[in-house]
Amino acid sequence: MANMVFNTLTKQKEKFIPREPGKVSIYVCGVTPYDYAHIGNARPPVVWDCIRRFLRYQGYQVTLVQNFTDVDDKIILRAQQSGKEPLDLAAEFAEIYLTDLAMLGVERATYYPKVSEHIPEIIQMVQGLVEKGHAYVLEEDVYFAIDSFPEYGKLSGRQLEEMMSGARVDVDHRKRNLMDFALWKAAKPGEPSWESPWGKGRPGWHIECSAMSLKYLGSGFDFHGGGTDLIFPHHENEITQAEAYCGSKPFVRYWLHSAFITLSGDKMSKSLGNVVTIREACTHFSPKVVRFWLLGTHYRNPLSFGEEELKAAARGLERLETAKENWKHLLSTKIRDQAEDGSVDSITEFIVDSKKRFINALEDDFNTALSLGVLYELVREINKWALAEGFQLTVANKQALQEALSVLEELGDLLGIWFAVEPQERGVSAEQVEELVKKREEARASKDFKTADWIRDSLKKQGIILEDTPQGVRWRRGDS
Ligand SMILES: [Zn+2]
Repeated sequence: MANMVFNTLTKQKEKFIPREPGKVSIYVCGVTPYDYAHIGNARPPVVWDCIRRFLRYQGYQVTLVQNFTDVDDKIILRAQQSGKEPLDLAAEFAEIYLTDLAMLGVERATYYPKVSEHIPEIIQMVQGLVEKGHAYVLEEDVYFAIDSFPEYGKLSGRQLEEMMSGARVDVDHRKRNLMDFALWKAAKPGEPSWESPWGKGRPGWHIECSAMSLKYLGSGFDFHGGGTDLIFPHHENEITQAEAYCGSKPFVRYWLHSAFITLSGDKMSKSLGNVVTIREACTHFSPKVVRFWLLGTHYRNPLSFGEEELKAAARGLERLETAKENWKHLLSTKIRDQAEDGSVDSITEFIVDSKKRFINALEDDFNTALSLGVLYELVREINKWALAEGFQLTVANKQALQEALSVLEELGDLLGIWFAVEPQERGVSAEQVEELVKKREEARASKDFKTADWIRDSLKKQGIILEDTPQGVRWRRGDS
């Protein structure tokens, strides 16, 4: 069976046919690194990490690109608040995010391009769009003219009126159409900016992903991923710019979107304030449990973050890990030569069939939830057989059990659920905490409560809780 994938563009499941035989190119929208990343930012990279492992298993050579939006209003604002240079602040949080992903067992992408390092490519694309009549200059800003692209709206399936009411439209009456979006923005004082044919400025948000994906993957690449919140306007605008610029389509063959993570029923987003960072989650639960929980739901379905859900994931993972250890132990025991060697055909058949069903689940729109279900069944059946009273390790039984173990290990590897050792790097070190606690004390002594609160808040996002006691400040990891 070929891989089937649900394509947001056509709104249906389609057979996956790569642009180039044997090769798969993937672009996933990354984060704006202005703070510790929240748990929702872990979903796309973990999902794509599995997809990449599976595609490699199928023999494809995979190129995976995930960007960093390191030029952005949120970064500039946070930099002003903390007295840092915007690009330094972004670089710091980008590194932290990569450490978070490593903690979750995500292999490094092939490329992690940053906007600040691709300004020439972006300017070239904006210029090309102006020359082709798809964009126009308004003083020192450049806008994309959506009326020049009749297919505008094809990804999100939205009509113009709907877009205007749904999006935060930048109401600038100089624009030809109110939905025209900025490709290049004139610099405001104190912002990072670059020389351009239109004066000193910086890119609008959407253009970066078109410019960087085209640079690393070329037009017509295979998969574009990201959260469903990016479908409109970000991805709609990406298609529009890229297809207008290249004069060809498709820009992307398959658009795959992962659903939200909710917290106590609310969409988790910074604006709502009820945010759990990846680091906080990994303080309460082992990173491997967090990863396992992320994979326990199909990527297109919403996922809920809570104590119960994570505990259930921990139990599920433990079941698989315990089986693996039990089988290994059993295999290390002595073969009973005298024992009657019965038929293991039905067991062997079940193992082969399990593997097939596991692969089928991933072929069907990368359904990790279903594939985990197959592993549970495999463990249940093999345990029933091998851990039953009277089981004897004969030559044939050993072979079958060995096969079950190999299959469990191999398939678990495709999901990246076996962590050889608990990752050492689980965030901030004790010395770093002590140092920050000291800084906070100094800030409080000089009545700089803003800094003091900021340090406390920042430590909380890393899973560190401070307690002010009469004897001084005490700190601990987690809130249990
Ligand atoms: Zn993007």
